[in-house]
Amino acid sequence: MSQAEDIESVDEDGVIESVSGPVVSATDLDARMNDVVYVGDEGLMGEVIEIEGNLTTIQVYEETSGVSPGEPVENTGEPLSVDLGPGMLDSIYDGVQRPLDELEEKMGSAFLDRGVDAPGIDPEKQWEFTPSVAEGEIVEPGDVIGKVPETASITHRVMVPPDYEGGKITSIEAGEFTVEEVVAELESGEEITMHQEWPVREARPAAEKETPTIPLVSGQRILDGLFPIAKGGTAAIPGPFGSGKTVTQHQLAKWADADIVVYVGCGERGNEMTEVIEDFPELEDPKTGKPLMSRTCLIANTSNMPVAARESCIYTGITIAEYYRDMGYDVALMADSTSRWAEAMREISSRLEEMPGEEGYPAYLAAALSEFYERAGLFQNINGTQGSVSVIGAVSPPGGDFSEPVTQNTLRIVKTFWALDADLAERRHFPSINWNESYSLYRQQLDPWFRENVAEDWPERRQWAVDVLDEEDELQEIVQLVGKDALPEDQQLTLEIARYLREAWLQQNAFHDVDTYCDPKKTYRMLGAIKTFNDEAFEALEAGVPVEEVQDVDAAPRLNRMGVAEEWNEFIDELESDLEEQIRALY
Ligand code: ADP
Repeated sequence: MSQAEDIESVDEDGVIESVSGPVVSATDLDARMNDVVYVGDEGLMGEVIEIEGNLTTIQVYEETSGVSPGEPVENTGEPLSVDLGPGMLDSIYDGVQRPLDELEEKMGSAFLDRGVDAPGIDPEKQWEFTPSVAEGEIVEPGDVIGKVPETASITHRVMVPPDYEGGKITSIEAGEFTVEEVVAELESGEEITMHQEWPVREARPAAEKETPTIPLVSGQRILDGLFPIAKGGTAAIPGPFGSGKTVTQHQLAKWADADIVVYVGCGERGNEMTEVIEDFPELEDPKTGKPLMSRTCLIANTSNMPVAARESCIYTGITIAEYYRDMGYDVALMADSTSRWAEAMREISSRLEEMPGEEGYPAYLAAALSEFYERAGLFQNINGTQGSVSVIGAVSPPGGDFSEPVTQNTLRIVKTFWALDADLAERRHFPSINWNESYSLYRQQLDPWFRENVAEDWPERRQWAVDVLDEEDELQEIVQLVGKDALPEDQQLTLEIARYLREAWLQQNAFHDVDTYCDPKKTYRMLGAIKTFNDEAFEALEAGVPVEEVQDVDAAPRLNRMGVAEEWNEFIDELESDLEEQIRALY
């Protein structure tokens, strides 16, 4: 996060009038909305959120205990901004973009002290810059002027800042530079370094937002198969405790075919963030075998940070995501959990004595959420590249009750909803995504991609599975009343098919070497095998074979082993032909 560079421009310091948790009021502060200020003798970072006459209200991003009236407040005159440049990947930041490892070194603990400043990007590290444009060429705002190998997996593209004028390049050279050193000069006098700043509350400009038509393939059958998210799409995962939220997020971080992952942890319960900080650096990128962190930026609001920092986490995260989008990358941002952010808004709002809305949340909850999710999308960037930011927000509804305001307001905005279900988790059905409650509004716009890249009849086959699961849902009510055996044979068979859909197809073991990732082609073929069983079985039933005999063919239980089969094409070929043969032999 940037500090003010020209403090001279500030007329005079303000004085603290009152302190209420993370909310501090000051008088005589010459400030504008959203200016960053340093509060108290310790210089805690805060942001102006209200100005009324001579009284300025500030939300402070650090713990305020011990800060007293009479202490000074210093205005930087600049909005809350993030430092952008090489070195963000493989970094772990706190909510105001201070690198946690560096702070740890300075303070000897992962739990941060107050008033400690550390630049978001290492000012001393040298990066190898290779120009991609030459002297004399004309560049425009956003244009890529060179490359830097940022990590083992990602090449960083150095761009003309979007708020520059651009023009003819008068000098540019290859070599080793720090992020502060000038790598190119323009005729206009503008100098380009590898470091940019951007105010977090402002979306970075793009030429156009486009309709996303390519899925963010996750390798998770229930997601790709039933509830796909687009590259540039939005999704919410509401999950009660223990329902598999963390495992699902990890699976997405590992397997989703995004180039870059930005993981924002805004103060989950207790020390969960510390867990994430410990877990992530251990994870391996299964596609490259390199550490997952080499394409990940982690922003973790450790739980001892005050609530206001949750908000800055979210905005810092999305701005970093947009910056990589501008380079032409597909970025997936995961926010865990947006409920904590909403709770922070509620707390700040109540301290400001604003009129409360539903369940005490501020009336602007919906607007704040939608402003955040709106920064997702597939974009035509101003430099002509195409990039995307997909946003996946976890929600933690208290008691798993989806009718509460954060879940409801999120639902109105996002187009994919993956409803984690405590009952399924209890029955050890994983991923415990409830197929009756979940949905994806991207299905239709992604169908052409699936038709072309997986199978022509992808939508029809998916619809077949949806119909069987729906029918099962309806039949379950009757079964509970009269028992399964009272059903006609064809309905009994439908229940059996649905059971295979649930157990063999929807369930997927994140901890099994093979099953952890399922190629969409395998997802499709597995469904095909169950459909083969379905079609053959119903024909046998029509020919008069009793339902028990059809269900009990030897090959049927092998359906449950498709997920873990490595040579799945061969496995499924053989299984389908055995099913056909064994069922046909019955009549
Ligand atoms: P939450 O974050 O919602 O509290 P977790 O993600 O920690 O829940 O999941 C709880 C447990 O459920 C995990 O420790 C794991 O045993 C099991 N689990 C969740 N998802 C899966 C999955 N896809 N495959 C296998 N086990 C899972």
